[in-house]
Amino acid sequence: MKLIEHFVGGKIIPGTSNKKGKVFNPATGDQEKEVRIASKKDLDSAVEVAKKAFQEWSVKPSLVRARVMFKFKELIEKNSDELTQLIVNEHGKVYEDAKGSLTRGLEVVEFACGIPHLLKGEFSENVGTNVDSWSMRQPLGVVAGITPFNFPAMVPMWMFPIAIACGNTFILKPSEKDPSCSIKLAELLKEAGLPDGVFNVINGDKEAVDAILTNPDIKAVSFVGSTPIAKYIYENSAKNEKRVQALGGAKNHLVVMPDCDLDGAVNGLMGYGSAGERCMAQSVAVAVGDIGDELVSRLSKKAEALKVGPGMDKNSEMGPLVTKEHLEKVRGYVDLGVKEGAKLVVDGRSLKLQGYENGFYIGGCLFDHVKKEMRIYKEEIFGPVLSVVRVKTFEDAANLINDHEYGNGVSIYTRDGDAGRTFASKIQVGMVGINVPIPVPMAFHSFGGWKRSLFGDSAMHGMEGIKFYTKLKTITSRWPSGIRSNAEFVMPTMK
Ligand code: NAD
Repeated sequence: MKLIEHFVGGKIIPGTSNKKGKVFNPATGDQEKEVRIASKKDLDSAVEVAKKAFQEWSVKPSLVRARVMFKFKELIEKNSDELTQLIVNEHGKVYEDAKGSLTRGLEVVEFACGIPHLLKGEFSENVGTNVDSWSMRQPLGVVAGITPFNFPAMVPMWMFPIAIACGNTFILKPSEKDPSCSIKLAELLKEAGLPDGVFNVINGDKEAVDAILTNPDIKAVSFVGSTPIAKYIYENSAKNEKRVQALGGAKNHLVVMPDCDLDGAVNGLMGYGSAGERCMAQSVAVAVGDIGDELVSRLSKKAEALKVGPGMDKNSEMGPLVTKEHLEKVRGYVDLGVKEGAKLVVDGRSLKLQGYENGFYIGGCLFDHVKKEMRIYKEEIFGPVLSVVRVKTFEDAANLINDHEYGNGVSIYTRDGDAGRTFASKIQVGMVGINVPIPVPMAFHSFGGWKRSLFGDSAMHGMEGIKFYTKLKTITSRWPSGIRSNAEFVMPTMK
């Protein structure tokens, strides 16, 4: 069985631990690979390698670092089919969706290609008589990224292209559920000319994460995952004097106003694409006024017609969930919703696929009359389960959303400019869509939620990413008047 190892100092290494994790193909339910689970010692050795590499990498001209990014971009494009298949075979999502997520990661690489421009500092002439002031941004040192299972290429690529373009060296600890993509990306970076030790991958679980949090040579930690772990990462990074950005879970609402393009809203709510395993998936439809019955009727037809199948099958619209445990958790939430009294309009729990009986599949599920006190409303399910909550007014919808503990993404569908504008201004959520269902910011803007969807002060990529991965230094300088005003034409020794 294929064993996925670590990548440190420019090569694949086994490390010191014999502990291994299982990697499944969710479409068949078969375990196809194993992954090495690092010890603390493995993580600490990788940090030593990265620390050494920092000495040379951090002083390379930014243009040299940009050229590696340009080459890396080409190589990702050339290898996109292989990378996409790795995502599909370990995560389960459908091929086109996986390819789209790779493109969103690639866009961050394209952004990082502009690093000489992005690192330009500020300059003020004559802040005092003959005194100038200027600033520069310098890299932090060794930085680490800890990433979730749901975007095995894109989420790491929110982090490392910017971090290494800024002159840092990087340790990536990917999800142990789908680790292969990270190793492939490391190999492509090497092929692009990145010096050994600048980008390293350590596979593992809590032990590797805790080693990251306590290693004094790691200066910053970027995390994306569930809220309880995000909070743990935030607290422990801060305790150990590290800079930290920790993105957590989500419950995203889409407000359906009575005047909206209902077909557009219904299509927007078909967030079943990644089987709901998206932190920006719309998992709650908020029906305003009397639009609820029509909305539920149209949604149920679409949810029932959803084609579920293996991610590599071009006809599949939705693939399986990532693991058997996750499938059981999502099924458990649907059972819970029924117990809590919500109306299960579409029930995907009993779906079985011929030829794929052991795959981790569940069909699309739709609940109507969900109430704000129910756990299926309050908690993140991270599966293809859409809840419809009915409210009377726009204000009720906004209050509902503002009261929720999460604040990652939100959308409103309306033809009323006033409602759209007020919504954008008043809503307590980090990423807002107006007639756009999944408002993921482009690479040159920044990605991040509010409330318990992000712990820390910086979002990912865009200028927030540049600031996160650099330290600001401000220089104030005065030069004594010299040769220009007091020119001397005799040899100093003749004086
Ligand atoms: P997770 O929190 O279980 O795991 C994330 C990472 O933390 C993994 O690398 C894992 O190995 C590590 N980890 C897990 N348990 C740990 C522990 N006890 N101590 C230390 N480290 C631990 O998340 P997941 O299930 O892989 O991913 C799904 C979650 O990620 C969802 O909650 C989703 O909303 C969230 N997510 C958020 C965003 C965002 O931008 N806010 C983006 C993608 C995913």
